Amino acid sequence: MMNDEIYYNKQSIREEWHDQLFLEDAYRSGIGFARRVRLARIVGLTALFFPIAGILVTHFHSGGWWLLLVGWAFIWPHLAWQRACCSSEPHGSEMFNLKVDATIAGVWIGLMGVNAMPSAALIVMIGMNTMGSGGLRFFLTAITLTLLSALVSLQLTGSLIQFSSEPLEWWLTLPILMLYPVLFAWLSHKTAIRLAEHKRRLQLMSTRDGMTGVYNRRHWETLLRNEYEKCRRSHCQTTILLIDIDHFKSINDTWGHDVGDEAIIAITRQLQMSLRSCDSIGRFGGDEFAVIMSGTPAESAFTVMSRVHERLTTMPLPGAPSERLRISVGVASWRPQFTHYREWLKAADVALYKAKNAGRGRTEVAA
Ligand code: GH3
Ligand code: MG
Repeated sequence: MMNDEIYYNKQSIREEWHDQLFLEDAYRSGIGFARRVRLARIVGLTALFFPIAGILVTHFHSGGWWLLLVGWAFIWPHLAWQRACCSSEPHGSEMFNLKVDATIAGVWIGLMGVNAMPSAALIVMIGMNTMGSGGLRFFLTAITLTLLSALVSLQLTGSLIQFSSEPLEWWLTLPILMLYPVLFAWLSHKTAIRLAEHKRRLQLMSTRDGMTGVYNRRHWETLLRNEYEKCRRSHCQTTILLIDIDHFKSINDTWGHDVGDEAIIAITRQLQMSLRSCDSIGRFGGDEFAVIMSGTPAESAFTVMSRVHERLTTMPLPGAPSERLRISVGVASWRPQFTHYREWLKAADVALYKAKNAGRGRTEVAA
């Protein structure tokens, strides 16, 4: 049977997973995008129905145009949403829908003889949607489509160009001209808030250990590197600790992995209770932890860890009440001789192994 680690590290399996995750992510964000456009489209087209209907009434246009207007304003937004939902690429499908919007907007502009107010409202809506969704290039493509279809529609319908708008057309168009930018700004604001939250969560995920909530090894080492540079500049007193649970394998073997996990979390909470909030705790992997105690000499770190050893002797694990956790600790303060932060880490590691070799359940300070 294939070992789990080998299985997940295989290049082809990793690529397959990556592709699968990417596709799921792209589908979800495409649906979110289509949902936002759906709301904007429903509101925008409903509001545009009135000024265009006003022009159809005053210029006695045929029933076919009325059919197109009702279908466009009230049925198309739902059809467009269904198209995006049923597509395997909702984002691409919604971009196509936006091009359809732009083309039909041109048809109305041509039919109305480029009547200033409703034409301006149509251009504002198409411009905001396409610039907001696909940037300048997409905006230019959409506006070109609108202009072309306006020209074709002017030719085919034989409408006369008359830019001026009647007072009724002014009043029917004003609500959409005022409402649409506000709606668009509100949707953009909601998206910005969601992105900020997404970024915050990603930041947490990339710096924290999922099980314990303390820093992961990569981030902890970044903090150590910064602390090392600070010590080199200002010769401050900083101490680091490497902590390893004793005989952890036998806890796993005797009580199971769930109790092992419980032990890792219990040690983390014990460290959080005993250390100051400014001390940086990291999970170094497996049953190993690391701490940066800024502005603290080795003796103080030793005293704090003595308290932790003592507390652990009386701390039962809910899943294994008879088991007592023990830890070994290696302590190393910054010294000017260190030429790299890894040397500092190595000194703490050597102290930890000294503690292990000296019988475990104790703290050793680097010489
Ligand atoms: P020592 O006293 O020398 O440290 O002995 P040990 O048994 O603790 O040995 P070691 O530190 O090498 O053991 C680490 C074990 O921790 C190996 C692995 O099975 C287990 N382990 C690593 N990560 C996890 C985890 O997330 N959960 C659990 N339950 N076990 C883990
Ligand atoms: Mg161990």
